Amino acid sequence: MVSEVTVRFAGLTALDAVSFTVAPGSVHALIGPNGAGKSTCFNVLSGVYRATSGSVRFGGAELTSLRPHRVAALGVARTFQNIALSPHLTVRDNLMLGRHRLTGAGFVSAGLRLPSARREAVRHGARVEEIAAFAGVGEALPVPVGLLPYGVQKRVELARALCMEPRLLLLDEPVAGMNGGERREMAALIQSVRESLGISILLVEHDMGMVMRIADAVTVLDFGRRIADGPPEAVQRDPEVVRAYLGD
Ligand code: ADP
Ligand code: MG
Repeated sequence: MVSEVTVRFAGLTALDAVSFTVAPGSVHALIGPNGAGKSTCFNVLSGVYRATSGSVRFGGAELTSLRPHRVAALGVARTFQNIALSPHLTVRDNLMLGRHRLTGAGFVSAGLRLPSARREAVRHGARVEEIAAFAGVGEALPVPVGLLPYGVQKRVELARALCMEPRLLLLDEPVAGMNGGERREMAALIQSVRESLGISILLVEHDMGMVMRIADAVTVLDFGRRIADGPPEAVQRDPEVVRAYLGD
């Protein structure tokens, strides 16, 4: 799906003809040292950056150069390396906003005056509750996001991405800054997104233990180049990967 993608910023090649494919229904990890190009790759996939050359396809659709909302409408949702929720709004409102982006102007701007808009809002509200329960944040629905522990906020962010009913979920460092217990909970949630919902996952992650535990396949970037690609056990033993990680 990512084919020969190159991204150049002034004087710097952040991605150099990178290719990889996320198999349907799999957890695919994108790893590499700081500055390797992982976030740039996510930004290209989600339409935030435009590739200098190369193409991105998903489910038969050409995503290359589409705007973020068009990419989302085609079934690709993402989270960010740093939490991008509205801290003063409740979990429910943050999730409804995720839903709003899915439906376009729709049920919020209709002001709930029309019976059809009211029915829509009820339907979306019910789906938001289902997704919150699935992500283990059902109890937190009435709570302003900023008051929740960090680990719970990260699960809310994942829930918000699920509210867009994606077929591919891009997770940028979902366990960064978490303690051991929170990491295990997030790993279990990611696996159940794949197993219960059948959503494919592309994951940027620094925690190697986590990658080895939950990824079906791994692509390794270093200085914008793909240096390895394959099952986690093989990639972990690859001499070039070892060298990149030891910073030699
Ligand atoms: P990673 O997520 O693997 O740490 P990034 O994709 O964030 O790496 O960055 C890859 C390289 O591209 C870095 O050298 C970074 O400084 C550069 N870079 C990323 N975004 C921009 C940008 N918007 N403008 C200029 N350089 C950028
Ligand atoms: Mg990054």
